[in-house]
Amino acid sequence: MNGTVYLVGAGPGAPDLLTLRAARLLERADIVFHDALVHPDIIDLAADAEKVAVGKRCGRHSTAQKFINKRLVDAAGKYATVVRLKGGDPMLFGRAQEEIAALEAAGIHYEVVPGITAALAASAALGTSLTQRGVARSVAFVTPRIGVGEESAQWIQSLIAADTGAIYMGVGQAAAIAAALIAAGKAASTPVVIVENASLPEMRRIHTTLAALPVVAVENVTGPALILLGAQFLARAESDDSVDNTRRWAASA
Ligand code: SAH
Repeated sequence: MNGTVYLVGAGPGAPDLLTLRAARLLERADIVFHDALVHPDIIDLAADAEKVAVGKRCGRHSTAQKFINKRLVDAAGKYATVVRLKGGDPMLFGRAQEEIAALEAAGIHYEVVPGITAALAASAALGTSLTQRGVARSVAFVTPRIGVGEESAQWIQSLIAADTGAIYMGVGQAAAIAAALIAAGKAASTPVVIVENASLPEMRRIHTTLAALPVVAVENVTGPALILLGAQFLARAESDDSVDNTRRWAASA
């Protein structure tokens, strides 16, 4: 068998934010390797496929990347349509390149299907654009989680340089993030919003500032969450009906 491996974005959470291309691939998939964050309704679209959970829940045990790479290569030898389903977009903090490298090394055909990344779902839910004329001309997609051999301060410089920051996998390190950014010259008053479970019914958000970020982030954030920072998030905080912006979670409308 000379199967094709599809690296497919599952979107931010809500099943109906899946692309049509992704849905059609799932419907004809023989086997699906999926992240833990993917909504069960999306996995159910792959009615005829064997389903294999391969981890990826930040901070918890996840299947080692090398092992996932090997399973994808092996599956392409057995099945025509292999789907690797990843949360959000596969090409953003999804380790897609490592899987692509393994597939290329094994001479296996692959295709990538984009998905809606978490920051875009959060922006949509807030009704606050990541770019705004006169306010924000640039966006940095950043994570403080670094791999072996990477420059540890690189993400700080990216956030200093950009008008808007979207920090992935950062809530657990909120105190270190706030301290590093303030030390590097970012204003302590920079507006911040944490968005948890963007696009899902259980979405929660909290408006705060860089200085207060460590305090609010230790509140019970259990789902996947993004930290967005930029001047435009203040405007939304003021129009929010929350009385105490630093303490109160505003449920999605
Ligand atoms: N490839 C994914 C990101 C994977 S890294 C994408 O494009 O969205 C996982 C991180 O994404 C989480 O730690 C969290 O910071 C963020 N994330 C994923 N889904 C989210 C959601 N529904 N709401 C808020 N943040 C989310």
